[in-house]
Amino acid sequence: MFDSLSDRLGGIFDGLKRKGALKEAHVTEALREVRVALLEADVALPVVKDFVAKVKEKAIGQEVLKSVTPGQQVIKIVNDELVAMLGAEQSGLNLLGVPPVAVLMVGLQGSGKTTSTAKIAKRLTEKDGKKVLMASLDVRRPAAQEQLKILGEQTGVKTLPIIAGQQPVEIAKRAMEAGRLQGFDVVMLDTAGRLHVDASLMAEVIAVRDATSPLETILVADSLTGQDAVNVAKEFDAQVGITGVALTRMDGDGRGGAALSMRAVTGKPIKFAGTGEKMEALEDFHPERVASRILGMGDVVSLVEKAAESFEKDEAEKMAKKMSKGQFDLDDLRAQLQQMSKLGGMKGILGMLPGMGKIKQAINQSDMDDKIFKRQEAIITSMTKEERAKPQLLNASRKKRVAAGSGTSVQEVNKLLKMHQQMAKMMKKMTKGKGGMPNLGSLM
Ligand code: GDP
Repeated sequence: MFDSLSDRLGGIFDGLKRKGALKEAHVTEALREVRVALLEADVALPVVKDFVAKVKEKAIGQEVLKSVTPGQQVIKIVNDELVAMLGAEQSGLNLLGVPPVAVLMVGLQGSGKTTSTAKIAKRLTEKDGKKVLMASLDVRRPAAQEQLKILGEQTGVKTLPIIAGQQPVEIAKRAMEAGRLQGFDVVMLDTAGRLHVDASLMAEVIAVRDATSPLETILVADSLTGQDAVNVAKEFDAQVGITGVALTRMDGDGRGGAALSMRAVTGKPIKFAGTGEKMEALEDFHPERVASRILGMGDVVSLVEKAAESFEKDEAEKMAKKMSKGQFDLDDLRAQLQQMSKLGGMKGILGMLPGMGKIKQAINQSDMDDKIFKRQEAIITSMTKEERAKPQLLNASRKKRVAAGSGTSVQEVNKLLKMHQQMAKMMKKMTKGKGGMPNLGSLM
């Protein structure tokens, strides 16, 4: 899986990597190729469009770091967006409930539902030390219940004894009852599939859901079916509600579109990847690892990360030096504002500090949200270079111009200037004896 996409992207980025100075036209050209590569990998069109737009916005607005090329920086952005598209963080099963917890496995026939049920049960038993009971609710396919029983014997996971003639909801209730009486932690319910999503299938799954209140409803989908897998997931989610996806046949040579679009289209995480017919062939789905496998540029990504860290350190040192001389102009204020929005704004910064609940509440209620940083930044950006260095130049008519240029008001410009004055004064005081560097957060 992903091989041909990976080759395509590799070629595009090798070209970019070699370019010393990167012009907007290079990025645009590369992204055009990325767009084609993703579409050829069968990624859903809206997902591709959104992806390319995000990368472009970030790539073009970005400051260039020392010691890496702009091309490398673009690769890092693509990597980060790819991770975001795949779902950012790995997410396991939620089993935090009163045992026995029900896990409902749903999907079309032949998607790998029964196999995945047994794989996950084996994993929960062996790795997590859970006591797991499996039950097949598939009364349509004659051998289905027998198949799960055999897999249970192979993996050493208990299965519910088969009683001929019972209907899915009855079997499900019996499984939950057995789970309760026999002290099982998890009951995995393998539902029947169909060749297509149809009303009777959905009605059956919904009845089982209502009878067992599962904490997890995992849609099993065949990654080789590309966008169809994504559409099936969407359909199941709309009708039954799913909590995650297990994508099977990731060992095949599919183009990867299902994996790449699933999260963005359905909003539901891919929790497992099936990578073969054997019972061990199950992996957690790690977006970061998958992204680096697709891009094959892990070295570039970590290089840029390091450069970004040292860039921030350099900037901080530069500012500390200036401030210890009692200088703090509007350019510096703007840099601080940008730094703060990067950290998630005021709320983000306070969120990182313990015991800040009250202040955070006050901020939530006031208008001190992150939009203010953006407005303040816009005000400073609308000034000339001289004005930023010498704010006292800003007379009434200049202020009017700045307000118009930034889409704000003269009052807001005044407010910002006043804040800057107070900060500069405080900085002088604080840096006088110590030479340390106060930041905006501590001043507010
Ligand atoms: P169900 O009808 O959805 O229950 O599908 P099954 O679990 O019976 O699987 C159908 C076939 O797909 C079986 O032959 C499985 O061995 C195979 N299969 C399931 N998952 C995977 C996988 O991740 N990789 C490969 N290569 N084969 C798989």
